[in-house]
Amino acid sequence: MELYHDIDLQDCPLCHGPGLIEEEEGWCLYVACLDCGCRTAELPFSSPEERLAAAKQVASLWNMGKVIHSGAVGD
Ligand SMILES: [Zn+2]
Repeated sequence: MELYHDIDLQDCPLCHGPGLIEEEEGWCLYVACLDCGCRTAELPFSSPEERLAAAKQVASLWNMGKVIHSGAVGD
């Protein structure tokens, strides 16, 4: 994951758990919480440049607290 070493991810805005940049099938990115399962919207990319830009954008959404809670974990 050293590709994203310069991207600052804060703790989960909901539970303060650890956030992780996830990549889906090599075409989109999102940030997900390892504890409560909330996540940002998915951002698609089609090139390495777009991939880095998308990673920075999902990190920014995450850091602003713009996350979706699926309710899949717990309550
Ligand atoms: Zn969380």
